[in-house]
Amino acid sequence: MIRIGPAGIPLSCKERTNVDGIIYTRCLGLSAMEIRFARGFISEEEAKEIKAAAKKTDVAIYVHAPYYVNLAGNKRNVEMGVEKIERTLKLAKLMGARMITTHLGFYGHLSKKETMKRIVKNLRGVRDRAKKGGIEIPIGIETMGKREVFGSIEEVMEICRRVKGTVPVLDISHIHARGGGCLREKEDFERIFDMLEPLHLSHYLIHLTGVTYSTGGEKYHVPIKKSDLPVIKLLEVLLERNYDATIISESPVVEHDAVYIQILLDRAMEMIK
Ligand SMILES: [Zn+2]
Repeated sequence: MIRIGPAGIPLSCKERTNVDGIIYTRCLGLSAMEIRFARGFISEEEAKEIKAAAKKTDVAIYVHAPYYVNLAGNKRNVEMGVEKIERTLKLAKLMGARMITTHLGFYGHLSKKETMKRIVKNLRGVRDRAKKGGIEIPIGIETMGKREVFGSIEEVMEICRRVKGTVPVLDISHIHARGGGCLREKEDFERIFDMLEPLHLSHYLIHLTGVTYSTGGEKYHVPIKKSDLPVIKLLEVLLERNYDATIISESPVVEHDAVYIQILLDRAMEMIK
């Protein structure tokens, strides 16, 4: 099954709570939503309300940890980052979320090898403490769009191999931008999934938006129709391989592009029949 939904409360949803966002998402014919902590963490009570609303509407919930996390930085950076991920995990459990997504950090003055070493160590700590606390929600590691940020697809793969309980989050637009517009043909998408094969994933979480880029990687998110990303080719690969996947739209026209992806998907499914 392929679920599609917005990152955050749809922009055209008048009521600005997450619960209203979930109901609105379902009314748009979508079936997933990513909860973000744009204005700080939510309360435990709200998390429980989200769980109830998601169950009632059959909208799958995913959660994004606060963006600024640096598990490769100094002691203070690491403590703050760890706290953000751990709080996100706790709330995700209360929300009945299927997975959380997090960023991991920056190279700064460190070598890539040293950055990896620190991140693996700190992430294992997070995972171990969560497990002890009875939380076994997968920790999604996002592929990042800017070249100075930790998170190439190879690095994400290495983390997932070395830290149990972590899985990749395929930010397709970030991969495209980091590679200078590398996703053009169906084979380019196939190569990504082939690369991930050794991880034996039963589900893929995908982030999608149009994107502009330069030599440093990602510049801006733009609507899908204004970008050179061939979304239809991604969908064809998902369908042909019969993957279970969730696509979260991170477009500036968030729910419009989520609905647009849904239309493309429905059309592609018709073609395959
Ligand atoms: Zn992200």
